[in-house]
Amino acid sequence: MGDQPTDRPHPLAELSAEDQALCRAAFAATANAHAPYSRFSVGAALVTASGTVFRGANLENASYGLSICAEAAALVAANNAADRAVTAIAVTGHSASSRRDPTAIVTPCGRCRQMIAEFAALSDTDIRVLCCAGDLSRVLSTSIDALLPHAFGRASLSAS
Ligand SMILES: [Zn+2]
Repeated sequence: MGDQPTDRPHPLAELSAEDQALCRAAFAATANAHAPYSRFSVGAALVTASGTVFRGANLENASYGLSICAEAAALVAANNAADRAVTAIAVTGHSASSRRDPTAIVTPCGRCRQMIAEFAALSDTDIRVLCCAGDLSRVLSTSIDALLPHAFGRASLSAS
């Protein structure tokens, strides 16, 4: 399917081997989720220009507002390694509730889109975002520019 963002999901098998591996890493990361409140386990995996993969899982808190998203956790891990040239990030999640469709696509929340956009600005690149179904059956391959158009960023602070 190439690198062009699309508006519709594709079967995982149609992605490149590298992208499939990133989606599977995100899925594996869900095992580390601490989600006793939402019971929605989210995993993220990002890859940097160095080829290093960083994972994250959601970390919820009894004070709900303090919860940390999986994408944010993965970005923090990359930041801790000073390896911030993120080229792609995959996210997936699955619910303990049988009411949620396991084939539903998981996309980053607004806060995470802003965080991903910050990393994109650092590298002056458009980070690819692989939004995976909870069961990895389908993946929406898009980008942070498409998910967060007209983003607020560093340039916004210096605008006159
Ligand atoms: Zn988020």
